[in-house]
Amino acid sequence: MYPKLSLYIDGQFIGAEGRREQDVYNPATGEVIGKLPHATREDLDRALAAAARAFESWKKTSPLDRAKVLRRVAELARERANDIGRGITMDMGKPLAEALAEVNFCAEHAEWHAEECRRIYGRVIPARVDGVRQLVVREPVGVCAAFSPWNFPFNQAIRKISAAVGAGCTMILKGPEEAPSAVVALAQLFHDAGLPPGVINIVWGVPAEVSDHLINSPIVRKITFTGSVGVGKLLAAKAAALMKRSTMELGGHAPVIICDDADIDMAVKLLVPHKFRNAGQVCVSPTRFYVQEGAYERFVGEFVKKTQALKVGDGLQADTRMGPLAQARRVGALAGFVDDARERGATLLAGGAPIPGSSGSFFAPTVLTDLPEDSRFMTEEPFGPVAGIVRFKTLEEAIQRSNSLPFGLAAYAFTTSSKNAQMISSGIEAGMVSINHIGIGLAETPFGGIKDSGMGSEGGTETFDGYLNTKFVTQLN
Ligand code: NAD
Repeated sequence: MYPKLSLYIDGQFIGAEGRREQDVYNPATGEVIGKLPHATREDLDRALAAAARAFESWKKTSPLDRAKVLRRVAELARERANDIGRGITMDMGKPLAEALAEVNFCAEHAEWHAEECRRIYGRVIPARVDGVRQLVVREPVGVCAAFSPWNFPFNQAIRKISAAVGAGCTMILKGPEEAPSAVVALAQLFHDAGLPPGVINIVWGVPAEVSDHLINSPIVRKITFTGSVGVGKLLAAKAAALMKRSTMELGGHAPVIICDDADIDMAVKLLVPHKFRNAGQVCVSPTRFYVQEGAYERFVGEFVKKTQALKVGDGLQADTRMGPLAQARRVGALAGFVDDARERGATLLAGGAPIPGSSGSFFAPTVLTDLPEDSRFMTEEPFGPVAGIVRFKTLEEAIQRSNSLPFGLAAYAFTTSSKNAQMISSGIEAGMVSINHIGIGLAETPFGGIKDSGMGSEGGTETFDGYLNTKFVTQLN
């Protein structure tokens, strides 16, 4: 059974009750599985007022009390992981095992913020004059507006909410209308964990209308968004025009550098599941594979073999390794990348088309080689189950080609030479670099991009930076 969907405002779960509703689809079957109520303008104003009111008391709470709520959320998330995971598979499409892992793993984000919020320290600066005390204190920024995406509906929302709650801020979050069940479940977790009314509020609607309304409100002091570069730039510009803080986690086009001296078996074993996880709809998904000449043939052969063995199907079936694309419109977008590449002379070695005979939005795991540098695939974020593999001669050239796009989110490399590894880690323009393993996205490590991939970090000890103001106090006794 797919769960009932609602708004969550000022501690109340609110159903349609005459509001406009949006159909929610199962991308594996194309069936309507739920109805999502949209917030009216009055609902948005009520959420703003509730968040403003709740901030006045939440900002004064002890970090110990905030930590208690966050720890309880983590416990409840693990208890309810099966139901939450099933909802994610039904409205977003990823295999159930991945959905369960998302919930269980991301419970750690709540725990990490519970621990870190006790360490929001200020400092004392020695004064020039006797009798003067100079203090730096960190204070919550206030009411935050958050916009979270559909690819990791639980993960992306819990990170934002936990950071706001831990810092002493309050939040209005617009979740992904196309995959909303995990965000409603998250509101229930915080509600049941004892979070006071108004500290978090969940709304749904037409994204541009909701974001305009919230960003323009003088109540909102900070914006946080995860999604595409285009929308991120738009929202960051609106926030900047009103001098509001923003954190932007945007798209990527992650390069993978495979050197001649790499352990190819290990690289393929790790990279194939990582590439096709969540059908490649992951901002840190490896996409541009630069393979050194001596390792090229073997890497491509092994990569294609493993790709062709992936079982694609409904995420609720136990043997499925890759589910459908999250929305039907993504199928045409992916086909467009493949067609453009082939027209420009690329070679298709696996997949390359929608999977026929299904009403769901399935696209075959795809491998392209011999891609021209100016093909759409090599320059625009594909956000899907397609790997592009090209050759390189020297490491300098691979680094230069990796850095040639405006993106700068994740990068991967495989080499057994520590000299190569050092050249890559210092030469690559990316917010996160993972060498010889896949190690990005832990609660205790910062997650974020540079260049067009965004600004600010979520996770790690940096996680509260975007939610705190720095205040300097100087006092003469
Ligand atoms: P899109 O650009 O239409 O939307 C991206 C996200 O932004 C969606 O969640 C959408 O609801 C939201 N959005 C759109 N306009 C908005 C607005 N004016 N105000 C607030 N939110 C708004 O793209 P799409 O077709 O849904 O997804 C494909 C693209 O999205 C990919 O190219 C990828 O870059 C990006 N994406 C990135 C992430 C990530 O983790 N960085 C996650 C999901 C999607």
